[in-house]
Amino acid sequence: MAREAIAIDFGATWTRMAVVTRSGGIREMRRWKTPKSRKEIKDEIVRHVLEFHRLGVDRKAAVGIAAIGLLSVEKGRIVMAPNLGQMSINIVEMVKSVHRGDVVLINDCNAAAMAEKEYGVGRKYGDLVYVTISTGIGGGAIIDNRLLLGKDGNAAEIGHLVVDYESPIRCGCGGYGHWEALCSGVGLVKLARHIVGRLVWRSSSDLLDDYLRGRRQASAVIDEAAKINAAGFASVFNAYDPEVVTVGGSLGLYRDGLLVRMASKELKRFETVKAKLIPTPLGANAPLLGAAVAAFNPELAIP
Ligand SMILES: [Zn+2]
Repeated sequence: MAREAIAIDFGATWTRMAVVTRSGGIREMRRWKTPKSRKEIKDEIVRHVLEFHRLGVDRKAAVGIAAIGLLSVEKGRIVMAPNLGQMSINIVEMVKSVHRGDVVLINDCNAAAMAEKEYGVGRKYGDLVYVTISTGIGGGAIIDNRLLLGKDGNAAEIGHLVVDYESPIRCGCGGYGHWEALCSGVGLVKLARHIVGRLVWRSSSDLLDDYLRGRRQASAVIDEAAKINAAGFASVFNAYDPEVVTVGGSLGLYRDGLLVRMASKELKRFETVKAKLIPTPLGANAPLLGAAVAAFNPELAIP
């Protein structure tokens, strides 16, 4: 039984790669900005895998890749990533071009849900959903102790739940009024522009900084986002009936889960099925750790 796996978290903004032990220990973590072209993406991945080989990592170590976008898990391909210029990427081939171990591809939120089950609060629960609020919004659901995958491994694409059917704000996927269109990192900027009537903040972090300073316009936007997030979470409760929903991603984890706490206060308005709602204790490493869980247990990650 292999003791270590190579885990890759391929995100819209950052890519991370690390060696992860069975008990969830992380070593040799590398992080780089996700490049914009297919060639540069491959160059960076290859360079880091070769570096790991030089450091003594087994050339046949299993590899797990947690990736954004719509996937074809079987083909090892990211079919479409709205937050990555709609590029289609065969990321498994990129790794296999220099590495002899098995490579498994998994949706990043499904990976994070697996990590939550293996190393996080999920150890106590058989039914959990992991939600990321970051550049995009996504989810992974473990129900009755089993990861829900769907036909291509894209089950629980909850970022595209409709939370406002009259909204003029368009999602990266093309649809209107999706949760991700309004409350992801990209979405908050659009929501703010819609509410204020002009572009004041170029990034969600600028907006949140102003919120913390008590600026009135920023408060109006973040208060609205709390209600929208509550609608999204309540829909997740209703769809999956989990015991717990854990939240990660840069916005989900912002200020120890500020947006999660704000959404919790608005839940009453929407809630039917109830569940616990908390920031993930795994922090930013949830998808990376989940990539390792998938590498160790590929049978759980393949539809
Ligand atoms: Zn969408």
